[in-house]
Amino acid sequence: MGKVTGFLELDRQDRKYRPAADRIRNFKEFLVPLPEQVLKDQASRCMDCGVPFCHDVKGLKGCPVNNQIPDWNDLVYRGDWEQASRDLHSTNNFPEFTGRICPAPCEASCTLNLIDQPVTIKSIECSIVDKAWKNGWVKPEVNLNKTGKIISIIGSGPAGMAAAQQLARAGHTVHVYEKNQKAGGLLRYGIPDFKMEKLHIDRRVEQMEEEGVVFHTGSHVGGDISVEALLNSSDAVILAGGAEKPRDLSIQGRELDGIHFAMNFLPQQNRRVSGERLAMNSNPILAGGKHVVVIGGGDTGSDCIGTSIRQGALSVTQLEIMPEPPEKENKLLTWPNWPLKMRTSSSQEEGAGREFSVMTEKFSGENGRVSKLDCIKVDKNFVPMKGSEFYLKADLVLLAMGFVSPETNGMVSDLKLDLDKKDNVLADDREYKTSHGKVWVAGDMRRGQSLVVWAIREGRQCARMVDQSLMGYSNLAM
Ligand SMILES: Cc1cc2nc3c(=O)[nH]c(=O)nc-3n(C[C@H](O)[C@H](O)[C@H](O)COP(=O)(O)OP(=O)(O)OC[C@H]3O[C@@H](n4cnc5c(N)ncnc54)[C@H](O)[C@@H]3O)c2cc1C
Repeated sequence: MGKVTGFLELDRQDRKYRPAADRIRNFKEFLVPLPEQVLKDQASRCMDCGVPFCHDVKGLKGCPVNNQIPDWNDLVYRGDWEQASRDLHSTNNFPEFTGRICPAPCEASCTLNLIDQPVTIKSIECSIVDKAWKNGWVKPEVNLNKTGKIISIIGSGPAGMAAAQQLARAGHTVHVYEKNQKAGGLLRYGIPDFKMEKLHIDRRVEQMEEEGVVFHTGSHVGGDISVEALLNSSDAVILAGGAEKPRDLSIQGRELDGIHFAMNFLPQQNRRVSGERLAMNSNPILAGGKHVVVIGGGDTGSDCIGTSIRQGALSVTQLEIMPEPPEKENKLLTWPNWPLKMRTSSSQEEGAGREFSVMTEKFSGENGRVSKLDCIKVDKNFVPMKGSEFYLKADLVLLAMGFVSPETNGMVSDLKLDLDKKDNVLADDREYKTSHGKVWVAGDMRRGQSLVVWAIREGRQCARMVDQSLMGYSNLAM
């Protein structure tokens, strides 16, 4: 702890967004990094608590990858950015992803959050890794001592990427199979560029290729490549295929044109930004000149809002069935856990109307296209309240109500894997081993829809278990 009185002398100061009127003109990132001296001052606010809840004590709160936050805060305060980068990378393969898009459970569990002044951990993390890339400190870590073991990983999202990087560094030959044209999973095709530009993924893919990872993009396992063939050619297989089955809203009028899953809409825009062709036979879904209704209040819903606004929507309304959360949590009841409270995303701030406790009862339309939603308010038990009916005009409806499970047809059914009650691939979070002796699973495919930081954790931990199983020991960190 560099400065004992830092937290008494300095208030929290965090990154700001570029003004909404400017940022909605393009799809670029808009967080303005803090100047170096401000970052050092902010790092000096860390109290190096006896129990650092921020870096996760029992896997329940704080940072899921166990970032050693007090340690690198101190290094930043002292100006040793290179050592801070080494420390940060020792627990997190991709801090530039989490430094941009993590909801930062670490800040919720920071002791200074008890007075609403948590250390700006996420911004400091992002600055450490951005500086590391700028100064050439992030280099391929090539292991020339090859084990002769071959590992196939299916899925190149953050879980698959983290597992692949760890296993290549342990000396194994690693092949990553990805059905899309580029690696990155939801980081690439779900999360819009304005939250995270894709150069961050490209740089990591290059680093990993230099470390020996072979990416086979455009390869659908269980489709154009059989999972049996991979099993035969590999010592171990890791499934990291994400949770791709979207939750639907099966009400009257669902078949009308103009009603789409968020994950049919968002990837198209990400492909446009990167100059990739839209998938074959897919008609463009565009929000320009339309009244857009987004159903679902989470990250995916917010990304639909920001994308619709940038495409020139006339209006965007977001519907959430849950009641409006309290403006502020009761810290003594919630801290150091993640609190339920009102949060406004940058996209919501850009001009979306938000409605809580709303159920959509029916879609109606003209000439086969949606034009209106019939809605009703619900009470806290989700019972519709008579007399509260209203309707919303809509030319485009985006369903962003989360994901029910992984895709269970294809490789999962070919392998006859056991599933849990929610249809996720069954494996515990210590072994990551499926019911098949040669197959492990990590990320959303195992835990259900979650966060990038959890996917990185699972990829790392799963890699260690695979390494241990193949070699009888493992030097990989968790
Ligand atoms: C729109 C959206 C916004 C989000 N925003 C955030 C956010 O701001 N912050 C955050 O922390 N989390 C966010 N999330 C959640 C986060 O993206 C996921 O939890 C995370 O990406 C899961 O990582 P994963 O590696 O398990 O799976 P994924 O990222 O889903 O990657 C799985 C990959 O496997 C591939 N694949 C699947 N099956 C096969 C097969 N048979 N053959 C070959 N390839 C296959 C898929 O094409 C995909 O590329 C968001 C999710 C969505 C949908």
